[in-house]
Amino acid sequence: MDFDFSEQPTVGTVILLDEQQYELVGVEPYRRRDGRKTELLVWATQCANCQSPFEVKTPLRTNGFSRRCAACRKPGKPVQGKRGRKVKVAMVEA
Ligand SMILES: [Zn+2]
Repeated sequence: MDFDFSEQPTVGTVILLDEQQYELVGVEPYRRRDGRKTELLVWATQCANCQSPFEVKTPLRTNGFSRRCAACRKPGKPVQGKRGRKVKVAMVEA
């Protein structure tokens, strides 16, 4: 899934991926490798596996969010169902 926040979302915006909730809690300045300044969005969520709260940082354009915390990471393994299954996405603007 691709996200393109061409307009930076407001802190408090919530994104739902299936049942998993990501709340935008902050924006950090970030300098890209090419030297251009951009922003990273900081999202608070709970691990789909162990329910521990953790933070995910994404650029304004991203192709997805981590669903699990660092301890539970299983890259390429979907949280539910089969790989390639469509995840229900909803966005609640603050
Ligand atoms: Zn976890």
